[in-house]
Amino acid sequence: MSEDILQIKEVKKFFSHSSGVSVKSVDGISFSIKRGETLGLVGESGSGKSTLGRTIVGLYEQTEGKIIFEGRDVSQLTNQEKRDVNRKMQMIFQDPHASLNPRMRVEDIISEGMDGYGFLSGKKRKERVGELLEKVGLRSEHGRRFPHEFSGGQRQRIGIARALAVKPSFIVADEPISALDVSIQAQVVNLLEDLQKEEGLTYLFIAHDLAMVKHISDRIGVMYLGKLMELTDSETIFTKPLHPYTQALLSSVPVTHPNQKGQRERTVLGGDPPSPLHPPTGCPFSTRCPVATAECRDTPPEWREHSPGHWVACHLNNL
Ligand code: SF4
Repeated sequence: MSEDILQIKEVKKFFSHSSGVSVKSVDGISFSIKRGETLGLVGESGSGKSTLGRTIVGLYEQTEGKIIFEGRDVSQLTNQEKRDVNRKMQMIFQDPHASLNPRMRVEDIISEGMDGYGFLSGKKRKERVGELLEKVGLRSEHGRRFPHEFSGGQRQRIGIARALAVKPSFIVADEPISALDVSIQAQVVNLLEDLQKEEGLTYLFIAHDLAMVKHISDRIGVMYLGKLMELTDSETIFTKPLHPYTQALLSSVPVTHPNQKGQRERTVLGGDPPSPLHPPTGCPFSTRCPVATAECRDTPPEWREHSPGHWVACHLNNL
């Protein structure tokens, strides 16, 4: 791994609510991703992880902050450069059923993006669709069929082929396995890993629990109520989690390594996250944190580098 393919700096995405309140879905997130890396992003529903993914690929415009892709600030690009960046950043969606047009043949779904960017046409286009289908573990003749003729796992493979069709370098995979049977999830993760090696891809892999990102991620970030709580390499997040929220999430992940059994203290995560319409004044996790203090309820903790590469937002000094 070498240079950063993506840097995001203090990115915010706010939405206006009908009540007039500004909902801070993403509230000042900063991180970078190296070329060829997979960054897992985990959080409960409403944590802002999908909004962040969509903001990065340009489906939403950020309210504040900078998104720098391949060294260029995406807000400063010409239209032509924007088109190029839009091609290089693709997205795979959670629900392969909803994201594939049921009235289109698979070959047209896959080549739609290629047409938009003036890629191949005629026989070459058809050959490329066949190649892509085989690359994702389907058969070239599947191109003539419609989405409803496939299983959920196969439909997700079609979604992956569609993303690959325009030769991206960076893919936001937004809960790509959450809607699939457990037996199929590992197959799709393995496919994404193989494609990453073959195509030199970089991933932002979004999921709602740590178990789903464990195997594919080099580093993992944990989000809560629009903010990052912790970010480090994926081994450390499982063996030495610092943030009380990460610890609570981990207590629900089964311990499989015999040396780790009994090491993890169980933190029961009670209640639901507060409404993003009325977030707590201080630390976003203070209403559920078992060790919250008065300072936690008053003052938001800083995002700080606790040790090299291990970032955390928590007031506790003895982490
Ligand atoms: Fe808990 Fe306070 Fe740390 Fe927030 S800052 S996670 S409330 S200890």
